[in-house]
Amino acid sequence: MSDLEAFRRETRAWLEANAPKSLAGIPSNDIEGVWGGKKWVFDHPDKKLWLERMAEKGWTAPTWPVEYGGGGLSSAEAKILAQEMKALRLPAPLIGFGLTMIGPTLLRFGNEAQKQEHLPKICRGEIRWCQGYSEPGSGSDLASLQTKAVRDGDHFVINGTKVWTSYADEADWIFALVRNDASGKKQEGITFILIDMDDPGVSVSPILLISGKSPFCETHFKDVRVPVTNVVHEIGAGWTVAKALLGHERTMIADTFGVASTKARARGARGFLPELAASRTGEQDGRLADAVLRDQVAAFEMESRAFALTVQRTKDAARAGHQPGSESSMFKIYGTELNQRRYELMVRILGPDALGWEGPGFDETDLETTRDWLRSRGNTIEGGTSEVQLNIIAKHVLGLPA
Ligand SMILES: Cc1cc2nc3c(=O)[nH]c(=O)nc-3n(C[C@H](O)[C@H](O)[C@H](O)COP(=O)(O)OP(=O)(O)OC[C@H]3O[C@@H](n4cnc5c(N)ncnc54)[C@H](O)[C@@H]3O)c2cc1C
Repeated sequence: MSDLEAFRRETRAWLEANAPKSLAGIPSNDIEGVWGGKKWVFDHPDKKLWLERMAEKGWTAPTWPVEYGGGGLSSAEAKILAQEMKALRLPAPLIGFGLTMIGPTLLRFGNEAQKQEHLPKICRGEIRWCQGYSEPGSGSDLASLQTKAVRDGDHFVINGTKVWTSYADEADWIFALVRNDASGKKQEGITFILIDMDDPGVSVSPILLISGKSPFCETHFKDVRVPVTNVVHEIGAGWTVAKALLGHERTMIADTFGVASTKARARGARGFLPELAASRTGEQDGRLADAVLRDQVAAFEMESRAFALTVQRTKDAARAGHQPGSESSMFKIYGTELNQRRYELMVRILGPDALGWEGPGFDETDLETTRDWLRSRGNTIEGGTSEVQLNIIAKHVLGLPA
């Protein structure tokens, strides 16, 4: 038996013995997944148990080094773990920006003390992170950011406002871009810094969205004193770190929204759309009765499957240590537009039922579809708009003149 076959057998045996049976089939999406952090309240005790057991094993971050709380697995072993979890229909024990964004960034750019301090807490789900990049007036043109960091001995004193900070009200720490020098090119003089949300002078105010939810906030910094030791990489070299992190973010967004949307995942991912169409618009001879809709659903399912396989290849490469490059921009565009098409199709299938907002006469599917359809409009904005991704592809992939 090869080493990998042995690993597969051991992994399956461990999962069968340790994964709470009650979690089978529960998705690890942004609603039912465990984000962790000091304010996190588990909606099921088995989710806590599952997180603790997997963290103990290092399998919340399977490929991260063991000394930082990871599992130290090779990419091939991590793939087997993912396959075995899928076979048992087990959710990821932990999700969030710690694992997908700041963790990989610290592994690459953080110093030893920063890795020791933050990575194990991410792996154990003890600290929840948010992202402080955008500012009022600095979104696509991120390098124009104005949040000021003034050196005062061993500290930076930070003043300014970040906007659209997803889950800032639930996060414990924020990774932020601040300006320490305004004298040179705008990409210079930016510093990537880690800030404790409990520091005096940090405050957040939620922003209400068209979908009726408030998943993000404005984050204000007023004379916040942050130790210089919290700078990741070098002072003034934050733009390099920021771009690398965006590669991880865009791949994550493409995966989250493009491969299977929140609700579609919750209801069994692929095949959900044809089932919904069949139940709402009827079947004839075992096929969707509406020929145009049938064509649209079939095309969507095929593209969705092809995209999932493509993203899977990138994830495998990431597990093997490959840093996401400009291809993450292609995935981001395709994945988010795919998700928007998914919801356009769902709304079309539901017809007038998709007009519901609340109250009697609309079931859960109707209401969730309407809200998620509205939420999906933001997919092509968050993590950098589609236009900005097209610019990146033109310049860095196709080599076109700026
Ligand atoms: C759901 C959601 C969650 C988010 N979460 C976070 C978060 O956690 N942290 C964070 O820091 N930010 C977050 N953001 C902010 C996001 O990164 C910005 O909204 C995005 O970068 C666009 O910036 P903007 O809103 O300022 O739009 P603008 O930059 O003002 O863009 C307006 C329009 O102009 C177009 N445009 C701008 N520049 C160009 C150009 N050079 N070429 C062609 N077209 C251009 C854009 O494509 C867009 O259509 C989130 C956004 C959303 C929608």
